[in-house]
Amino acid sequence: MKLASKETCTGCNACAYICPKKCISFKNDETYDIAYPVIDETQCINCGKCQKVCPALSPLEGGVPLKAYAAWSSDSEERRTSASGGIAVEIYKYALKCGCSTVGAAFGNNFQVYLKISDELDSIKGFKNSKYVFSSTNSLFQEMNTCLKAGGKIAVIALPCQIAAIKKIFCRYLDNLLLVDLVCHGVTPTAYLTQHIKSIEQKKGDKAISVFFRDPAYSTDTFTFTLYNVKGNCFYAKRTANRDSYQVGYHRMISYRENCYHCQFAKQYRISDLTISDYKGLGKYAPSGISDNRHVSCILINTDKGRDFVDCLIKQGNIVAEERPVHEPIDGDAQLRYPSQKSLARKIFERRMKLCDGNFERAMFPIIYMVSFQRFLYRINNILKRIILKILKIFRCNK
Ligand SMILES: Cc1cc2nc3c(=O)[nH]c(=O)nc-3n(C[C@H](O)[C@H](O)[C@H](O)COP(=O)(O)OP(=O)(O)OC[C@H]3O[C@@H](n4cnc5c(N)ncnc54)[C@H](O)[C@@H]3O)c2cc1C
Ligand code: SF4
Ligand code: SF4
Ligand code: SF4
Repeated sequence: MKLASKETCTGCNACAYICPKKCISFKNDETYDIAYPVIDETQCINCGKCQKVCPALSPLEGGVPLKAYAAWSSDSEERRTSASGGIAVEIYKYALKCGCSTVGAAFGNNFQVYLKISDELDSIKGFKNSKYVFSSTNSLFQEMNTCLKAGGKIAVIALPCQIAAIKKIFCRYLDNLLLVDLVCHGVTPTAYLTQHIKSIEQKKGDKAISVFFRDPAYSTDTFTFTLYNVKGNCFYAKRTANRDSYQVGYHRMISYRENCYHCQFAKQYRISDLTISDYKGLGKYAPSGISDNRHVSCILINTDKGRDFVDCLIKQGNIVAEERPVHEPIDGDAQLRYPSQKSLARKIFERRMKLCDGNFERAMFPIIYMVSFQRFLYRINNILKRIILKILKIFRCNK
């Protein structure tokens, strides 16, 4: 029995969950420290359930979004402390009010991120803000199964590949699920994050107990990576432009899992009820009343269920929303059209990871300078282009 290849396996865990013989386990790939499922052939009864449930081997069909909104939470503090407009937290709060459970990504031990189920308003704080790293489904499917079997309803916000797994496993319970996916450009293996944090701890002589990828203290739109110690003091804060190796690897699309470069969900056809993201390209296709486009989310309405839910959020005053032409955010965000592309830097990274025996920091060291230099050349090129255009304009006016 064959499972998805390394090019397509998202590590969603659906196959291991569904296997009646529990003979699928995860083993780490030697170079990249990424876990892939492996079948114990001596136990396998060839039932084919793992292949049937796998979103990579038997993909779902998506639908074109019906509507698009530029939107944000009416609560300014929720908006400030969320990654973009604070739409996720408003979805959770309203879902809880309606008696639903919620699923989101929160940190566990040693900076591992897990998808968790919760009925507590307090847990939602842990779900807020983007964790730009692989998140594990761990015991989620068992817990969701218990909840759904008992007649419970669940609002899930997760990455598209995780939503696909949930949709395939719980296809009988779709009426009781509100599925919200994020626009996603990739995830980095957890090992790179833990190696990065360890190397900073060694340099700074401090110990991190929490990490932010978009720290609200520095405004989430600056994408500042920060580490805090047990006293709550920030002892490290760097952005991509300041050459933080993790942020460079992540935001320059260098250090993702292999499958993210072949992502089947990076398109306008959505498999969820709602899709949320940072709004990019606001005002490009129609005038907008929004003057400051920072902390503004995009909501794509993909199904009637999704539309009804968002209508309630708007009517109750939980969010502020402006309807936009559907093609505006699709045109604005490449991830709604095609997956992250492998750059020269990524190819060098692949080679260096092998050379450096999977040491992320060492592999990234020359690449961060190379990427900085590329950005410098790119900026110079743009400045030169603008100067030439201005000269041509003056020249034409004088004619
Ligand atoms: C890995 C990743 C890649 C992304 N890529 C893009 C992109 O290319 N373009 C774009 O416009 N937006 C992207 N986003 C979405 C963006 O960062 C915001 O999350 C989104 O705009 C919603 O913001 P918010 O303020 O409503 O909610 P937020 O406060 O950001 O909360 C959003 C939700 O994301 C969930 N979440 C956070 N981290 C993870 C994770 N690792 N795995 C699963 N779920 C997680 C949380 O549980 C929460 O429910 C990405 C998010 C993630 C996690
Ligand atoms: S074919 Fe059936 S028994 Fe074998 S690994 Fe897949 S799910 Fe498990
Ligand atoms: S079900 Fe998920 S973890 Fe299993 S092979 Fe498919 S993509 Fe990989
Ligand atoms: S890029 Fe695609 S495959 Fe990778 S984490 Fe995001 S949704 Fe999953």
